[in-house]
Amino acid sequence: MIIATLKAQKEAKNPKTYILGAHYDGVDNPAANDNASGTATMMEITKQLSKKKLNHNIQFMAFGAEEAWMVGSTKYVESLSKQQKDDIAGMINFDMVGVGDSLGIFTSYPESKQHLTDAFVQKAKEMKLKYERGTLMASDQVPFEDAGIPTALIFYQTDKNYHTDNDTIDKIQKEDLQNSLNITLDVLGNLTK
Ligand SMILES: [Zn+2]
Repeated sequence: MIIATLKAQKEAKNPKTYILGAHYDGVDNPAANDNASGTATMMEITKQLSKKKLNHNIQFMAFGAEEAWMVGSTKYVESLSKQQKDDIAGMINFDMVGVGDSLGIFTSYPESKQHLTDAFVQKAKEMKLKYERGTLMASDQVPFEDAGIPTALIFYQTDKNYHTDNDTIDKIQKEDLQNSLNITLDVLGNLTK
């Protein structure tokens, strides 16, 4: 697991932490969409935010062993103290953001805190993106959500080549990556004003 932190500027009042995550393992295939697309998007966001003054800490996490049932993210959340968990204002997870025409804006459970997903939905409407809300209990946001942290799983659907040898880079739709990047930068910009 790899973690990088962009710290809030010194003048920031009461800084919290937002986490952006993506798993970097894959099943035994090229894994272009699942999940090089997610890690690449996360890294580009890191690059763009690194030039800005931030009012909150932003942490970037590349998780290992997601495909073995979220081992990396689960171990990470287990390692946190109550105080550390309380300091996390939200977690945004990118998993398969490069194939499909509908942006999924999901939590793990219907009853979870929705303020992050609400912010993404509002922005998707403004950007006139096709999107779908729902729930999915299989990706790295789950352990964070289990710990009471607001989350949003961002992914495109549907990828018929998921977990096959055809999950190759030629299938990646650059517009999906761009939309995932733009919407997240906008949402984070608003949340961390
Ligand atoms: Zn995945």
